[in-house]
Formats: sequence, structure tokens, C-alpha cells
Amino acid sequence: MFDNHSHTQYSGDIPKGRGNSVRELCLSAIEKGLKGIAITDHFDIDGIRDGFFPPLDHDSVAQDIYEARAEFAGKLTVLQGIELGQATHMPEESHSQLASQPYDIVLGSVHAVRGIIDFADTDIKSMSKNEYIRLWEQYIEEMLDTIEWGNFDVLTHITYPKRYYLGNGITEFPDIKNKGREYFEPVLKAVIDKGITLECNTSGLRQAMGECLPNRDLLSFYYELGGRDITIGSDAHKAIDVGANFADAKEMLSDIGFTHLASFCLRKKDFYRISED
Ligand SMILES: [Zn+2]
Ligand SMILES: [Zn+2]
Repeated sequence: MFDNHSHTQYSGDIPKGRGNSVRELCLSAIEKGLKGIAITDHFDIDGIRDGFFPPLDHDSVAQDIYEARAEFAGKLTVLQGIELGQATHMPEESHSQLASQPYDIVLGSVHAVRGIIDFADTDIKSMSKNEYIRLWEQYIEEMLDTIEWGNFDVLTHITYPKRYYLGNGITEFPDIKNKGREYFEPVLKAVIDKGITLECNTSGLRQAMGECLPNRDLLSFYYELGGRDITIGSDAHKAIDVGANFADAKEMLSDIGFTHLASFCLRKKDFYRISED
């Protein structure tokens, strides 16, 4: 199987000297028995423009990916990907970047909404309930705008802000168990209508929240609405986390009813059986 979401030392959110190389991620993928890995370093286009993140060295990442392809040929498929954050804040520039490299897979992410840098850096606990509920609504609105913009293959880690709401001690927020359906129904329907793949991101299983993003309830809701197009990504920021918790994710998805996972090559999508190794 493929890990369709991973980050190397080039990702702007990883402090210098703390990340791993493309080669190290590939070695870990082989060790975990994966068939392929997508290298999808962060490109939070507005955060880079505003100087919050260093620019991504696209050419060096590409070079390392091509070297890894040669080194691991026959053992591992290495996909050239990118995690594009906040595309709708700079739509034209986003299109240009995507045209500048032969990407296999483009992840579409919403890490921030207009007015904040990233949910990870936002002081949510100082907000009033009305403010943080409004922030959540803004997240949903910007995700819908991103889907409408549409030049990406996989919508990543929906419910991303939940990690930071919980981290700030806020447990009262729109979730599938209360108001989730009214918030997420348009997002999930838009993903299905546009033919975009939904990601089951396992990073939450390694963190305090203890569940995938989105969680089982929301993945079941997607399935109920007719969604069958799904992929799994570890969102590894270090080599050891490549493919982490994939057995759990696969079991959960099969249990819900999913039978196939999406894979990508030069932005063309294919499906393989979830039971395949
Ligand atoms: Zn992300
Ligand atoms: Zn990521």
C-alpha cells in the first residue's frame, strides 16, 4: 500500500536539523513493507508570502525524489507530491506552482483561514465561544472554497482545527456527535461531486486526540453519503512515522465498508483493493 502524505526536512514547519531526508523516508517505507510513498512537503502559499514559513526549495525536493526513484527502483514507488495550503488565498500563484513540476499527487489543505497564520499558532483559548465557533465556521467555508477552486487531488485531514481546539481545552465544538452533519455534509458532498479523494490522516492516532482526521463517525457519514474515494496518509514529519497506524486505519475503513484505496501517478487516479499489501 501507499503512504500518500509525508514530509521531509524541506518542509517549512520542521526546524532545521530536525527532519529527515527523502532517502530516509523511503528506507522507512521499505522497512514498513509499503509499495509506495508520496513526498508531499508543505507549501503554505500565504504563510510563505507573509514570511511566516521559509520558501520551499521545490527543485531540491524534486532532485532528491528523482535520485530516490533511481536508487529504489523495483522496490518502492516514490511519488512527487506537494501539500498546498490555502490555495484560495493565492489562486493564480497556486495554479502556476502546480504547473511548474510534474507532480503525481497534490494534497489540498486548509491549515489557516483569513486572519490567522495556522490553527496551530492561534490562541483559541482566549477566544469567546462565539469567536471560536465562528472560526470553525470560517474553516468550513474556506474548505468549500478550496474544493470549488479544485486544482488538487486529495482533501487532507478534515477536522484539522479540532486538534488545536482540544489542545486548548475546548471540547465544545461542532463535531459529528452534535452539529457535525450540518457542518460537514456540504463539504463531503462537494468532495464527492468534484471527484476529489478524501484523506484518512492517521497523525491524530499518534497524538492526544487519539483518532484519525476525520474520525470514524465522519468517515462513516462520508460512506453513507456515497463517498468511496479514499486514501490513507501518515502525515509523517519524521521517517519513523511513515506508514504509522496503517493497519488500524485499514481495519477501520474496511469495517465501515470501504473496499478500495486511491493511488496516483502524474495526477491520474487509480484504485487498488484495501486488502492488497
Ligand atoms: Zn497538513
Ligand atoms: Zn502534512
